[in-house]
Amino acid sequence: MITRSEQRRAQRRALEYLERAHVIMTAEERERVEVADFGLSMLEYFGVQTLTYFNTERICAKQIVLFPNQICPEHWHPRVGEDPGKEEIMRVRWGIVYVYIPGAEIEPSVRDRIPERKEYFTVGKEVILRPGEQIILPPGTVHWFQAGPEGAVIDDFSTTSRDVLDQFTDPDIVRTTQVVD
Ligand code: ZN
Repeated sequence: MITRSEQRRAQRRALEYLERAHVIMTAEERERVEVADFGLSMLEYFGVQTLTYFNTERICAKQIVLFPNQICPEHWHPRVGEDPGKEEIMRVRWGIVYVYIPGAEIEPSVRDRIPERKEYFTVGKEVILRPGEQIILPPGTVHWFQAGPEGAVIDDFSTTSRDVLDQFTDPDIVRTTQVVD
C-alpha cells in the first residue's frame, strides 16, 4: 500500500530518470507511469516504476525505472494456457542492474544488500548489466533484480505481459498496488 502523495512523488521521480536516460515520451505517456510496491509498503526497498508503451496479445514493450538500490522481488512468469509464459529481454539504458537467476547460491555480500525479507530470495547467479547490455529470460525463469546505487532505467521487451498472474517467492506479495489517500 502506498499513499497518493507517495505515488505522485515516485511518478515524478521516475520521469526524471527517464529524461536522464533520454527516453522520448508523449505528454500522454508521461501521465501514466505506474508505481508498484508489490503490497510490501516499502517502496524505497521493493518496487518498480514502469511505463508500458504497448501490450498486445503477442508482444509488449516498457521502460522500467528503479530507484537507487531498489529491488524487484523474486518472481517468474508462469505458463498461461497455450502460452509457455512471458519471455523477457531486459536491456539496460542507464545505470547498473544486478540480475539474479538460477545456477548459484546468493553470495553473502549480495544477501547483505537485501534490506528485508531475505528469506524470499533464493536464486543467486549474478549477471551485471551496464548500459547497452541485455539478458534474455526464457519463460518460467525465476529472477530478481536490483539497481546499483544510482538507480537504473531498463528497456524491457517481452511477449504479452500478464502482471497479475506473475508468481512471487514471497507469499505476502500482492501484484496490484493499493493506493490510499
Ligand atoms: Zn520478470
